[in-house]
Amino acid sequence: MRKLRILHLYPDRMNIYGDMGNIICLQKRMDWFGLKHEYITNTVSEKLSGKFDLIFMGGGQDRGQIAVGSDLQTKQAIIKDHINSGVPALTICGGYQLFGKYFLTKDSGKIEGISVFDVVTKATELRMIGNIVCVSDEFGTIVGFENHSGATQLGDSAQPLAKVIKGYGNDGKSGFEGVIYKNAIGSYLHGPLLPKNPSLADFLIGTAARNIDKQFILKNIDDSVAMLANSYAQKLPQ
Ligand code: GLN
Repeated sequence: MRKLRILHLYPDRMNIYGDMGNIICLQKRMDWFGLKHEYITNTVSEKLSGKFDLIFMGGGQDRGQIAVGSDLQTKQAIIKDHINSGVPALTICGGYQLFGKYFLTKDSGKIEGISVFDVVTKATELRMIGNIVCVSDEFGTIVGFENHSGATQLGDSAQPLAKVIKGYGNDGKSGFEGVIYKNAIGSYLHGPLLPKNPSLADFLIGTAARNIDKQFILKNIDDSVAMLANSYAQKLPQ
């Protein structure tokens, strides 16, 4: 198996509440699975070309989103080609919003997204902050921490990632959190998300590996500590 190429978009502008821990988690688990990997970053004004096996973009303040918004437009085609051909991706909060159609900010107008996800986000007066617990048939109980004022509405073709048990999720009303399109996930959960939710990490890693070798099977690893963190987080107050 060749090296898995992990693309991290805008790590200098879009990285809050420990989002970088998602990359560390992916790298560590790939080591444990015996998968070689390469970490590639791309930010504003840097050319994006080549093929990647997994794409990640973290969250950020509105200011960070404004700083990367127009640059991301120039990379729309290559990113969409990857996602449409089944490359797994994880986008968190501000990154999730910009992988949607647009984010309408409170004071700075509309930031166009790249429409990977059929979702739109509008700033609200409500700051949706706190611990969040949700559940999905595929990934089990997902835990994290959210902090956003943007409320995200799913379009007709969009599939939510999970149902909210405690917390706000996409908009604090619909009862849904995140989105999944092909193998790309958008989520409001920081934490970072992946160390406490290994089923999500392994979905991304397993998909990336199987895109190269259909037969690839992730071996079992001891996730008792990660699951202890997951069950502890389930009991935290919102
Ligand atoms: N600025 C966005 C919001 O508040 C995203 C915040 C984030 O990435 N945590 O909705």
